[in-house]
Amino acid sequence: MVVGDLAQEVDVVVVGAGPGGYVAAIRAAQLGKNVVIVDKDEVGGVCLNRGCIPSKAIISASERLMHIREASHVGIEVSGDVTVNMPKLIEWKNGVVKKLTGGVSQLLKGNKIEVAKGEVYFTGPNSLRVMTDDSSQSFKYNDVIIATGSSPAELKILPFDGKRILSSTEALNLQEVPKRFVVVGGGYIGLELGTAYAKLGAEVTILEGTKSLLPGTEGTLTKMVTRKLKKLGVTIVTEAMVQGGEVNGEEVTVRATVKGEEKSFVADYALVSVGRKPNTEEIGLDNVGVELDERGFIKIDKQCKTNVSGVYAIGDCAGGALLAHKASYEGKIAAEVLAGMNSVIDYQAMPFVIFSDPEIAYTGLTEEQAKEEGYEVVTSRFAFAANGRALSMESADGFVQVVAEKETKQLLGVQIVGPEASSLISEAVFAIEMGANAEDIALTIHAHPTLPETFMEAAEGILGHAIHMVNKK
Ligand SMILES: Cc1cc2nc3c(=O)[nH]c(=O)nc-3n(C[C@H](O)[C@H](O)[C@H](O)COP(=O)(O)OP(=O)(O)OC[C@H]3O[C@@H](n4cnc5c(N)ncnc54)[C@H](O)[C@@H]3O)c2cc1C
Repeated sequence: MVVGDLAQEVDVVVVGAGPGGYVAAIRAAQLGKNVVIVDKDEVGGVCLNRGCIPSKAIISASERLMHIREASHVGIEVSGDVTVNMPKLIEWKNGVVKKLTGGVSQLLKGNKIEVAKGEVYFTGPNSLRVMTDDSSQSFKYNDVIIATGSSPAELKILPFDGKRILSSTEALNLQEVPKRFVVVGGGYIGLELGTAYAKLGAEVTILEGTKSLLPGTEGTLTKMVTRKLKKLGVTIVTEAMVQGGEVNGEEVTVRATVKGEEKSFVADYALVSVGRKPNTEEIGLDNVGVELDERGFIKIDKQCKTNVSGVYAIGDCAGGALLAHKASYEGKIAAEVLAGMNSVIDYQAMPFVIFSDPEIAYTGLTEEQAKEEGYEVVTSRFAFAANGRALSMESADGFVQVVAEKETKQLLGVQIVGPEASSLISEAVFAIEMGANAEDIALTIHAHPTLPETFMEAAEGILGHAIHMVNKK
């Protein structure tokens, strides 16, 4: 480390180039700020390099395989074996990632943002050092946006070894389809990867500590996913408390207490996906003086401000929903606030998406939450089984549910489980954002035959005049 090197002065430093950081940097540059963004790794953060994008690529490849396997049902017959070339699949996935990270680099360059590569260490509230193995650079800034993200949480009793006991990062880079794959933790990350590997041919077991998969997500939505997993041959073990495990050669054994009984699960690989921890340790935050909560997340207000003036935090390291679009949204707010705008966070219509099979997506309030908040509610549910497009796609499991306020019919929340729920939720997000009521949706002409017609029908159901289902009296 070079002590006493001359610090470069800039308006804004963004620490971390994930979906929070790079979006914040671009927005700040658009608003006329001179910006430096720092990352010790590739730009794009977890989401592009070892999260959203690679997982969706593997999921989409596994779905393609399922479509081929099940094609005879619709009269397409494949003769000969259908095999999976895992190294090639991973290479293709890496290509997708590379295209996107390359795009982010271009955008940063196009917005005249300086990218500094190295590990950040704060030396004070307005200064930091960026270090690599053989260099050190110092910056002084007016404002800093901390966007250091999160890392996989480790189970002390079953620590990652990167070879047989994997975090999601290694599980996205396997060079073979596991014969047996144990997933510890039935949250969305474990479920998405477990489903993909089951489709690629692995015998998958999911161990979940609580009573059902996807804790925190409404039971009516998860029920359909659980049913499909069982159909795929996935073993779901709930109320399973992992006690430890060990690696023996090319095998891993996970020991758990299941409803009071000791059980062992043997597999080629175990994925431990039990949560994420914020990257707020060992970066010198003590020198900044920002307050953390009891789990180590940086405390922020509705404008992404920390307790220290000029210091903002966004994305996973600031807690809340650990989702890429939430990080990017906060990135824009933080950049606008430091540039003098009066932007404020509003999560009312934030979408939550799980790329399960079928997909789950929801926004706003569930019926229960709406009642808890004191609303009188009316709900309506339209099944994909009555939608021509879903039937023609051979993908008609699930429903769209609309929750509205009884008197005004204003939309309070929408829950979807079914084909392309991840895309369908956008219309609901927009509707709630615009304060739409059921009539606004019902009066909007939806193209036929398309999946979004289900949303129109569910909204018509709120008004008691859906056409393609019998309305509630
Ligand atoms: C397997 C998986 C699948 C996921 N799928 C989805 C999905 O489908 N949809 C969704 O919305 N979200 C998904 N997520 C979550 C999503 O990836 C995160 O919410 C998102 O990446 C958070 O963005 P961020 O900018 O806050 O931080 P990150 O993406 O974590 O980026 C933080 C960056 O900071 C850098 N950094 C950290 N410390 C330092 C330091 N000291 N010095 C320099 N640089 C540093 C890191 O190298 C990293 O690049 C998934 C996550 C995983 C693991």
